Amino acid sequence: MGENMSKRLKLVTGSESEMEERSFINPFPDREHRDAAEHSGANEPLDAGGKISDAFQKKVQSKIKDLLQQMEEGLKTADPHDFSTYTGWTGIALLYLQLYRVTQEASHLQRALDYVKRALRNLNGRRVTFLCGDGGPLAVGAVVHHHLKNQTESQECLTKLLQLQRSVLSPDSDIPDELLYGRAGYLYALLYVSKEIGPDAVDETTIAKVVTAILESGKNLSKEEKKEERCPLLYEWHKKQYVGAAHGLAGIYYMLLQPSAKVSQDTLNELLRPSVDYVRHKKFRSGNYPSSLSNETDRLVHWCHGAPGVLHMLIMAHKVFRDEKYLRDAAECGEVIWQRGLLRKGYGLCHGTAGNGYAFLSLYHATQDKKYLYRACKFAEWCLDYGTHGCRIPDRPYSLFEGMAGAIHYLSDVIQPEGSCFPAFEL
Ligand SMILES: [Zn+2]
Repeated sequence: MGENMSKRLKLVTGSESEMEERSFINPFPDREHRDAAEHSGANEPLDAGGKISDAFQKKVQSKIKDLLQQMEEGLKTADPHDFSTYTGWTGIALLYLQLYRVTQEASHLQRALDYVKRALRNLNGRRVTFLCGDGGPLAVGAVVHHHLKNQTESQECLTKLLQLQRSVLSPDSDIPDELLYGRAGYLYALLYVSKEIGPDAVDETTIAKVVTAILESGKNLSKEEKKEERCPLLYEWHKKQYVGAAHGLAGIYYMLLQPSAKVSQDTLNELLRPSVDYVRHKKFRSGNYPSSLSNETDRLVHWCHGAPGVLHMLIMAHKVFRDEKYLRDAAECGEVIWQRGLLRKGYGLCHGTAGNGYAFLSLYHATQDKKYLYRACKFAEWCLDYGTHGCRIPDRPYSLFEGMAGAIHYLSDVIQPEGSCFPAFEL
């Protein structure tokens, strides 16, 4: 996602011009570098106690209302058959589910139901993942119906979701392992419903089988490439060994590191830890990460490719292995994102400012350092001026992963940061 521009930029010499072309210069002073007037200004997102200020909260809430209206208007001309979480109706349902979570307003839950029903009418049986396949609408459908206490409908969605495991586990399936189209994206769907409905929603054996399939696939490629020592779990998508969250190692490791995936301690230590460290060693001097193992240029600072996605893997590795080095690397990602994360590609989650802002929220959760909450708020402030920076307009401008719905999701999380969660990715 978002790499098609890179070819054109190869012609530009000098990394600075490249960076400027991809991101805006961050106009915000960092928290320590503000002068006294700014510290106490009414425009500050955090109050003296380090909490989100009432004024900022109000500003964000009113922008959410305004953007929701624009989104609803825009969606009237959206592709009626796009059911996906990434660009289609399930993504919009997921946004309303989030708004229901933070406001408890029943009308939001009703909207979520309307949108997910639209998605469920359009399933095509081609893919299984949460983001781009049938797994997303089925999982979100199960959760929405569960909230509405429609047990029969919820169970129906769950049954269909579990039936998709056949193609995920089949030895002669050519399904990849990455998050958008592969096994990790199906694993996410299972873990998501377990989290939202309860541990009994999905039996442990199914999760274990999917996890094993991902591990086996990674071991096989590692063996083929003779990398068993350095990187015992290796994955590729379209013949390329991607690093980032959307198509690459970081996204797959991130899912396998989830406590609810119940990977054994031995496997964590023997297979996952060295693999995570292998990715760590690919770090550029800037603190950013390459988009693929064969790519040596420090270009993309997106959730899909680069530090904003790798950061989540590092934070999870810190939680699991309790080694500070992971958190230090994650903090370095945070610096790169602060400098180069206000993207010209727009405000979305996949390769936009909102997706990058979630990195600060995750750093805030991991460290409780208000500096990161401040930075998250500043990226939100950028999104408050939605559409005024001259960014590129995405193909699906109102969708969850490319467009406005993603920015609204981010704004709604920033003002209640304790429970924030990057949709379709964090658990
Ligand atoms: Zn992207």
